[in-house]
Amino acid sequence: MSSLDQDQRHHPSCREKTLASDSSDSRELPSQQLQGLKLASHAVLEEAQQRGRLKCSKCGGSRMFFCYTCCSLVGMSLQDVPTVKLPVKIDIIKHPNETDGKSTAIHAKILAPSDVTIYTYPCIPEYEKDKVVLVFPGPRAVSVQDMMKSKSSVSKVDPLQRVVFIDSTWNQTNKISTDERLQDLLQVELKMRKTCFWRHQKGKPDTYLATIEAIYYFLMDFHEHCLDEEYSGEYDNLLFFYSYLHSIVNKAKTSAGKC
Ligand SMILES: [Zn+2]
Repeated sequence: MSSLDQDQRHHPSCREKTLASDSSDSRELPSQQLQGLKLASHAVLEEAQQRGRLKCSKCGGSRMFFCYTCCSLVGMSLQDVPTVKLPVKIDIIKHPNETDGKSTAIHAKILAPSDVTIYTYPCIPEYEKDKVVLVFPGPRAVSVQDMMKSKSSVSKVDPLQRVVFIDSTWNQTNKISTDERLQDLLQVELKMRKTCFWRHQKGKPDTYLATIEAIYYFLMDFHEHCLDEEYSGEYDNLLFFYSYLHSIVNKAKTSAGKC
């Protein structure tokens, strides 16, 4: 399991200044958040884990669950995993110098294949600024709730065609977010969310979300504030792999603590 504990890739979803007022009991929240999810059965992942790593049929790499290079399942078929329909298209821009195995962006592509596109920086599309938003914190960022309000010319996005996320470590995230092709996009930040991510970087606050978490929380806010519907688990299966991997790491930590 040691390879699961080395990740440094998080999505900066909240402004840093909101972190200062953070309460000390915040670390109680993450596991509870994962427990109430409406998820497809993890039995298929348990079986795959027992079989261990297999060779990817496309690239020959040794993989568990899915191949992050080929973006395909390994040892499972598409019917074995849930498919999530998203209310808006999502682009994920990832940094080329990072190991793909550390990224949770691939979860989104596998679980919502018709709505998610992954680009490798600097190869990114030209975006129409009035129809696309970038989920990234900063002084110019607005909440998801305010994103669709057409009264304010600053935050007018109508119709929203696409939402862009950056999947990268901290040092590289700023380089991508300041790319001139992304500069004109309305920036959106998520409300205070705590990460469930098990790969905390030392010294990083627990509001730095994994990319799959950031996508999930954005969609929850979008569902409630933009579609104006009560959220009842529609996108929970985006965390299908994530919640399972989280439970494995927790079990490993628990058993390690007993020794
Ligand atoms: Zn492969």
